[in-house]
Amino acid sequence: MTYVITSLCERDGLCVEVCPVECIVPGEPEDEWPTYMIDPDTCIDCGACVPECPTDAIFPDDEVPEEYADATELNARFFSEGPGYDAA
Ligand code: SF4
Ligand code: SF4
Repeated sequence: MTYVITSLCERDGLCVEVCPVECIVPGEPEDEWPTYMIDPDTCIDCGACVPECPTDAIFPDDEVPEEYADATELNARFFSEGPGYDAA
């Protein structure tokens, strides 16, 4: 499992401060990767980022609302094909 950041993200970076494994990275360039992103291979499913988010943008991957379903693939692809940690 992993946690996923959806398009509700307003890019304030608060989640980055609390992630114990530093697997949250700002999507760059923003017009291509519009949210912060969670590396699904490193996330330990601790949930610490969820209460930090002022816009409730972060969900466990099995609870992502239908209207944000594409976010799961987008977060993963940012690390597999996009800049991933090089954007941090
Ligand atoms: S659930 Fe935990 S490990 Fe995963 S991104 Fe959030 S703070 Fe980091
Ligand atoms: S705390 Fe929420 S709004 Fe802020 S960067 Fe993280 S996911 Fe985006």
